[in-house]
Amino acid sequence: MSDSSDNVPTEGLATPVQFLKGVGPQRADLLRRLSLQTARDVMFCFPRDYQDTSDLRPVAQLEEDKLLSVRGVVEELDLRNTSSGGSMLGVLIRDGEHFLRALWFNQPHMKKRLPTGTDVLLSGQAKLRGGRWEMTHPRVQIMAEDEETSAESMLPVYPLTEGLKQYHMRRIVQHVVEEYAAQLDEVFPPDFLAKHDLIGIHEAVTQIHLPRDAESLQRARRRFVFQELLVLQLALAERRREQSTTARAVPLETTAQVDARILRRFPFELTGSQKQAIEEIKIDLARETPMNRLLQGDVGSGKTVVALYAMLAALAHGTQAVLMAPTEVLARQHARTFGKFLEASRVRTALLTGTLKAAQRRETLEQIASGEVDVVIGTQAIIQSDVTFANLALAVIDEQHKFGVHQRAGLRAAGQAPHYLVMTATPIPRTVAMTVFGDLDISTLRDTPPGRQTVHTYVGTEEQRAKWWDFFRKKLREGRQGYVIAPLVESSEDLSQPASVETLFEELANGELEAFRMGLIHGRMSAAEKDAAMQDFSAGKIQVLAATSVVEVGIDVPNATLMTIESAQQFGLAQLHQLRGRISRGSQPGYCCAFAQTTTDEAVQRLAAFAESTDGFHLAEVDFRLRGPGDLLGTAQHGLPPLRIADLTRDAEVLKEVRQQAREMVDQTEGLSDPKWARLKKMVSIRYGRVLELGDVG
Ligand code: ADP
Ligand code: MG
Repeated sequence: MSDSSDNVPTEGLATPVQFLKGVGPQRADLLRRLSLQTARDVMFCFPRDYQDTSDLRPVAQLEEDKLLSVRGVVEELDLRNTSSGGSMLGVLIRDGEHFLRALWFNQPHMKKRLPTGTDVLLSGQAKLRGGRWEMTHPRVQIMAEDEETSAESMLPVYPLTEGLKQYHMRRIVQHVVEEYAAQLDEVFPPDFLAKHDLIGIHEAVTQIHLPRDAESLQRARRRFVFQELLVLQLALAERRREQSTTARAVPLETTAQVDARILRRFPFELTGSQKQAIEEIKIDLARETPMNRLLQGDVGSGKTVVALYAMLAALAHGTQAVLMAPTEVLARQHARTFGKFLEASRVRTALLTGTLKAAQRRETLEQIASGEVDVVIGTQAIIQSDVTFANLALAVIDEQHKFGVHQRAGLRAAGQAPHYLVMTATPIPRTVAMTVFGDLDISTLRDTPPGRQTVHTYVGTEEQRAKWWDFFRKKLREGRQGYVIAPLVESSEDLSQPASVETLFEELANGELEAFRMGLIHGRMSAAEKDAAMQDFSAGKIQVLAATSVVEVGIDVPNATLMTIESAQQFGLAQLHQLRGRISRGSQPGYCCAFAQTTTDEAVQRLAAFAESTDGFHLAEVDFRLRGPGDLLGTAQHGLPPLRIADLTRDAEVLKEVRQQAREMVDQTEGLSDPKWARLKKMVSIRYGRVLELGDVG
């Protein structure tokens, strides 16, 4: 079977898809399009969903308001327009002597999927209307004529590609499972399976594809979720262990004297949360192993001050500290803030960003290398390889959610082994934090500085627009400042497209906000232009700043209390909350009005949640639920491969168990080197070895 020029095994689980039963060259191409090359790949191509067909009935025995399934043949289709401008598709299904009408509103494409004569399995709730059974928006499976339905109660639904039908896929998979499942190796020893109440791999593979009932499906799923999360948690635990055993950091103890000296620099009393976080950081810094801490806190909770404390604590030992921000605007703002706090001190700061002139850059690099500079503030430019520090002891990264695992590693390589503090203003659901930041300790700023006003948030209708601008102008006249946010920089010809900030700026400057000084800021402007706009706004020379989401992160202008968000449906919940964070920074209450156009249900819920709550942690959970299992809040964004089966909303319990287990396994003296973990170790290495730069797991 195999080409004589290679020695790749082509039997058993390695059988190429074209040699599987029911697969010819054409179908093999389709399977490869789904990245399925071998029998093993097919076996691990899990259903994306299941249709519950446990209560399959003839039409004659239907009942109202129960989840039921009906099998029949498409007899007749009828697509018509409704009075409200939508469409209604009626599909008459014949089951022997009896009929059921399936209805779809505004889904005319269903017509193509269901030509007359198609054998279908429908699941949904039936209603008796005028003596006839109807099902609105049922789930549909197209069946092969000779396909049995009676035995299965949970019909698997696979990811497909054009040209490949569900029933093809079901057959191919069923064959693969029957033929090859027994050849799979178990990664877990028997006592481990028993301890965690996990079923074996053969049983699990069989039940995930051909579940006997809902309960066996659940047990099969749990086994794979456990395995997937364990592999990831082991990788993270291993990375954490490697860093703490191999890397040596300069211990930076903070004396009472230094502590008092630092605190004197702050013109306010620290919040309870800030004090708590600083205590945790002090303990970490005093150790010889590098700190690895995530500081999370809602917008405006005062993370910068905590970072500054840590940096000054490092400087007290004559070492250097670096602060890295995701954008140039933010880096410059940090530089200004630090400048204020550090007025009349001997601390020497340097700004290192991508836009420095070559000569300037060279000079700054020399100062960093010679130790003439104590604090470096900058953007990604800092992790470029030509930056060498004289004695870097602490690295702070602001707004980590914009950084991937790789960038973290890059910065680490810049010094020997700096202590390491990551800050994020996007509160992360606990389960996600445990996953994407699994190798970090976490400090949380729960409370905000005193006197902070809430932001009143509205979702405005078109009729309310004029009234909102009246209010906006009134507040501007009282001396406040405001933002107007739009998702895009430039307009497109297409009027149905979201608002652009340039058009909006033009319109408002010649209309509603004619009487006020307006400025513009967006991502296509040069760094210097953006910085100038920010400075003018900050100094009050500009009253209203029209902006894209470049102002999303970190910008701090306390007098700005107004915000209009146009085409709000375009923004994610975390982003909206971040934007609103720009106007909750002073002693005056903020007012935010979001206008949205054509929206989906999801967008409506998102905006409602935004208007209802200003608690970033709560919103993070809502956001997480709304995005659904498909989006794992950016495992990819963090440089990790996506989870295939685990769902961090649903599987929080398993995750907790797994994390505990992973840390125990890695911390044991034997670690993963015990031969009984050989297979598991290999899995960890294959999946995460490279991304997480693990030294010795493979
Ligand atoms: P974020 O957590 O969003 O980065 P910042 O660190 O920018 O928040 O702080 C927001 C504002 O609150 C800043 O103007 C800062 O000076 C101020 N601030 C921070 N801590 C306190 C405090 N304990 N009391 C009063 N104001 C504070
Ligand atoms: Mg900040």
